[in-house]
Amino acid sequence: MRFDAIVAGLGPAGATAARVLASAGLNVLALDKARFPRYKSCGGCVSTKIERILDFDIKSVVEDSIYGATFTYRSGRKMDIMSDRVVGYNVMRDRFDHYLVSKAKDAGVRIIEGFRVAGIKDNGGSVTVTGADGESYTGSFLVGADGASGFTGREYFKLDPKKAAVSITAEVPYDRGKRDFTGRLFIDFGSVPYGYGWIFPKERFLSVGIAGDAEKNGGRIKETFNDFASSHFALEGLKAERRLGWTVPTFYDGAGPSVKGRVLLTGDTGHLVDPFLGEGIYYAIRTAHAAADVIIERWRSGSADLAPYQAWLEKEIYPEFKAAEKLSGLVYNHQRLWYSIIEKDPEIMRRFYNVIRGEETSAEFYGWVYGKVKSKPWKLLRRWIDSRFLPA
Ligand SMILES: Cc1cc2nc3c(=O)[nH]c(=O)nc-3n(C[C@H](O)[C@H](O)[C@H](O)COP(=O)(O)OP(=O)(O)OC[C@H]3O[C@@H](n4cnc5c(N)ncnc54)[C@H](O)[C@@H]3O)c2cc1C
Repeated sequence: MRFDAIVAGLGPAGATAARVLASAGLNVLALDKARFPRYKSCGGCVSTKIERILDFDIKSVVEDSIYGATFTYRSGRKMDIMSDRVVGYNVMRDRFDHYLVSKAKDAGVRIIEGFRVAGIKDNGGSVTVTGADGESYTGSFLVGADGASGFTGREYFKLDPKKAAVSITAEVPYDRGKRDFTGRLFIDFGSVPYGYGWIFPKERFLSVGIAGDAEKNGGRIKETFNDFASSHFALEGLKAERRLGWTVPTFYDGAGPSVKGRVLLTGDTGHLVDPFLGEGIYYAIRTAHAAADVIIERWRSGSADLAPYQAWLEKEIYPEFKAAEKLSGLVYNHQRLWYSIIEKDPEIMRRFYNVIRGEETSAEFYGWVYGKVKSKPWKLLRRWIDSRFLPA
C-alpha cells in the first residue's frame, strides 16, 4: 500500500505534521522507534506563542503557568523578574507528547510504534522508508521529524551532529506543598560556559538541567551539573539523581536546505532549534505545520516540488535564529556583565518575555539591546567594573 505521506518520528513535530496532513484528507503513516507515553529529556517550558499555531487547548497537560523567573548568578545574587502576563506553560514531555500523538490518532493517522527508521530511498516518484528490521513502507512524501538523534537529518541530509549544545537533566521529585514555586522558573547564568542552568517546576518534579556549547563544556559537563545542582537554593535537601545526557541540535549557518526531493526536515532533526534559549517545542510544531501545509498544497495540485517550504524557512525562521545567535554571543560570552546589566535594568528581561510570547521578534529585541549597550558605553563600563567586585 502506498501512503500519501509518511512521517518519521512522533514528537511534537511529527505528531503535528501527521495530524495536519490527515485532517486535510491525506492517507498518513507515522512511525516512531519509541512507544508512547515515552520520556523525553527536556525543560518542558512551552512558550505562550504556541497558542497562535494550535487550534486545540493544551491546558489538560499543563502543570504550571509561568509568569517570570527567579534569576541567579552562579546560584547567588537572587533576583525575581516577574510579569503580570503569562509567558509559558510547564509540561512533562511524556504527557504532552502523548496528548499530541492522541490528537494525530483522532485525525486518522496510522501509527506504528517501535519502528526505527534505518533507511530512506527516493524512487523518483515516491519515497521508501525501511525499518531496522527490514520492513518498508512507501509514500509520496516523507516528513523527517525524528529528533536530535534521528536518521533523517543526520544520515539522509548529513547534518552535523556536533553543531549542538550538550545538556544534562534530572527529574527531581519534590513536595509542592512544602516548596511553593508556582508561576516561576529558575534560571542561572554564570555556571555553564556559553549556556545556562535551569530548574523548571512541575506538579511532582523539578526538571533540573544545564545546557551549553559542546566545545566550551568539553569533558566537564557532569561536574558543571553537580556544582549547579548542589549549590542552588531551590534544590536544598533534594538529590538530583538519574541524570540523562542529551544534545540540543541548535540552528547553524551552512546546514544546507531542509528539502531534498520528496523529503523535508522539521523540528530537531533539521536543527530547527532557537540557539539562544534552546527553545525547540514551538519551532518543532511551527515548522511541522508549515511543512504539512506545503505538502497538502502539492498533493492537491499533483506537484512534488517542496521548495516553498525552504523559502518559508528562509523568510520566517532563519532571520529569527540568526538574531538569537547574535544574542547568544552577547549574553553567553559576557555572563557576569549581562547579569549586572539585568540587575540594574530588569525591564530588559521583561521585554525579552515579549519575545518568548511572540509579541516581538528576536531581531527587534537584539537591535534594541545592542543599541542600549552601544549608546551608554561609560555606564556599561562602570557596571562591568562593579560586577567584578560583587561576590561571584
Ligand atoms: C535538556 C533539554 C531541555 C530542553 N528544554 C526545552 C524547553 O524547556 N522548551 C522547549 O521549547 N524546548 C526545549 N528543548 C528542546 C525540545 O526538547 C526539542 O526541540 C523538541 O523535543 C523537538 O521536537 P521534535 O518533535 O523535533 O523531536 P523529539 O521530541 O525528539 O521527537 C522525535 C521522535 O522521533 C523518534 N525517533 C528518533 N529516531 C527515530 C528513528 N530512527 N526512527 C523512528 N523514530 C525515531 C523519537 O522516539 C521521538 O519520539 C530542550 C531540549 C533538551 C535536550
